[in-house]
Amino acid sequence: MSRRGVLTVISGFSGAGKGTLMKKIVEKYQYGLSVSATTRTPREGEVHGREYFFLSKEEFEQMIEKKELIEWAEYVGNYYGTPKAYVEEQLAKGKDVILEIEIQGALQVRNIFPDVTLVFVTPPTAKELKERLVNRGTEDLVTIDKRMTRAIEESKFMPQYDYIVINDKLEDCVEELHQLIEKEGERQNTTNEPRKTQNYKEFIQKIQKELNV
Ligand code: 5GP
Repeated sequence: MSRRGVLTVISGFSGAGKGTLMKKIVEKYQYGLSVSATTRTPREGEVHGREYFFLSKEEFEQMIEKKELIEWAEYVGNYYGTPKAYVEEQLAKGKDVILEIEIQGALQVRNIFPDVTLVFVTPPTAKELKERLVNRGTEDLVTIDKRMTRAIEESKFMPQYDYIVINDKLEDCVEELHQLIEKEGERQNTTNEPRKTQNYKEFIQKIQKELNV
């Protein structure tokens, strides 16, 4: 029987370094990286069809209506969603696909693809998260504050993820993620026994406490 591709969803606090992580992992390994649709304005250097498909609100709402999205969510005033066609094509071809999406959307994917592996990427501490957001310099202070507040809400969903990956050193994080996906592919295409994951309870409690300070 031919191998079916593995679908992995990466979420994490804004500023957790997911974008860079995704860039590195597809540079190094052969993953299909889905390009999302969004109604937010492009940041400097972002290209239509590469980082996102930048759509108007009307265009986005049409995609929802036509059921062309696997999931979609509103995030800090804008729509974000994953086009269905590309993901289905790649998985059928045996290619592993990674989606980088926020939490509301991530949890919806499981309804359509029950085998999806949900991975939550986080900096080691809340302090580091804030520093990364400030240093990125792409958002104003009001937006940074909104994203920090949202992080508190998002941290409540961390227990629903299969794996938590701490993005301390980028290279290590890339390797950890790649190995985890390889292991999932092996499991899903052979025994399909339940996942054996770590208990992340302590780490989740620690970062929740820090975020609330
Ligand atoms: P940013 O505006 O910083 O590029 O992304 C904001 C948030 O939207 C991030 O948490 C990112 O993971 C999420 N996001 C990007 N694409 C999608 C998508 O297709 N669906 C959903 N639900 N979230 C997305």
